[in-house]
Amino acid sequence: MRADSLLEVYALSDCTVLKFGGTSVADAAACARVAGIVREHGGPRPVVVVSALARMTDALFACARAAADGDVAGASRRLDDQLDRHTELAQALLRPDTAAGFHEELARARSHLTGLFGRLGSRSEEAAALQDEVASFGERLSASLLAAVLAAAGLPTYAVDARRCIVTDTTYGRANPMPADTERRTRAELVPLLDASLVPVLGGYIAATQAGRTTTLGRGGSDYSAALVGAALDAREIQIWTDVSGVLTADPRVVPAARPIPRLSYAEAAELAYFGARVLHPKSIQPATDRGIPVRICNSRAPQDPGTLVDAEPDVRPGAVKAIAHKTGVTVLQVVSSRMLGAYGFLRALFEVFDRHRTEVDVVTTSEVSVSLTLEHARALPAIVSELKSLGDVSVEPDRAIVCVVGEGLRTTPGVAARIFSTIQDINVSLISQGASRVNLTFVIEEDRVREAVQQLHAAFFEREPVPVAADVATGGAAC
Ligand code: ASP
Ligand code: MG
Repeated sequence: MRADSLLEVYALSDCTVLKFGGTSVADAAACARVAGIVREHGGPRPVVVVSALARMTDALFACARAAADGDVAGASRRLDDQLDRHTELAQALLRPDTAAGFHEELARARSHLTGLFGRLGSRSEEAAALQDEVASFGERLSASLLAAVLAAAGLPTYAVDARRCIVTDTTYGRANPMPADTERRTRAELVPLLDASLVPVLGGYIAATQAGRTTTLGRGGSDYSAALVGAALDAREIQIWTDVSGVLTADPRVVPAARPIPRLSYAEAAELAYFGARVLHPKSIQPATDRGIPVRICNSRAPQDPGTLVDAEPDVRPGAVKAIAHKTGVTVLQVVSSRMLGAYGFLRALFEVFDRHRTEVDVVTTSEVSVSLTLEHARALPAIVSELKSLGDVSVEPDRAIVCVVGEGLRTTPGVAARIFSTIQDINVSLISQGASRVNLTFVIEEDRVREAVQQLHAAFFEREPVPVAADVATGGAAC
């Protein structure tokens, strides 16, 4: 490796990506806090990625829908309400001359967007591309605004158009990034700024095709942008600043004593994501996972809280369990068929039924003659059941809940399953599965007993002195 590229690698690995969600820039007080966070937590070379102001993207989509239905005037009114929020923030946080520059940008955005509304109204073939163009203004404006706000607070910033960095295919609304081009362009845009001691501020969620047309990465895509930028720069850490102090040990609405988990492995975080725990979507941190870059989830309202660090380390806590997640509104389907015995093609035929009805299956267990599986959104249930009947006897159990106990320790600690099931021994468990990642134990119970089960498990694993699991089982001491 040449000396200058060695130097580049050294300098790059020093940068930290800080992503701020919509609530972190929701009002003047929140924006003002961001400056302190970048200073204290951004290390020597911070890079800022920001979402649109809270509710802005929803509003832009509503405008696009209204416009497509022919109500361009309604769309423009709605847009003005949103632009006014930006104006108020600029007035509160910027010096008059800088605020004036931003007002001009708002005026340009307004005229550009009204033009787009008109084109949407003509039921253009290009509706999906136009919609992305409309939605992109949320992050384009928040990035300019935040760059100016940080500059006013004494941080030397530079607003970067993220569409010059993230390159995607043409799947509008949910575009797929092209990693090599994204890396090359992101480095070309950001490294000179970092070298000049400037803090780049980019909008999340937005990107462009090779040909330069605006795309978006799908709703909630700013985390994905942060991971892509972090991977391109080989960042030392990616910080996701949100409004909770990290991932919690359980849903706090069910377990008031739930507390933040200090550390999770990528595999644990991925298992928890399905349960809507406030974790990152596994896809959105994949670029970081691939490079082993740590991702920290932090609270912008309580910046001193340590948050949750997600990285490759399979850290095992005493007691082995890190989190107890659950989900209600689950339906269990069981198909029993002697045709399965010693035959192939049965599971394929079974899953084709779900495929045809575009229905996602979450947990699956099989025996020689039966398959049990869970569905969450069972709109197509009657049709699915009637098709499955050609494969075997079908039974449906509605109103079930999934409980998922997660911890790297499950791979290595004997007796955890015994402790889990003895803790909830008076609750009937209908389906048990341990994923291939072996960091989770998932089971299904009746929905109306799920609060009790989660509370008991949380008490056993988190609210009492940790007892070595093996000893526990030997003395039978795990039961509540
Ligand atoms: N602003 C976009 C959305 O609301 C992206 C994001 O916030 O992550 O979906
Ligand atoms: Mg988000």
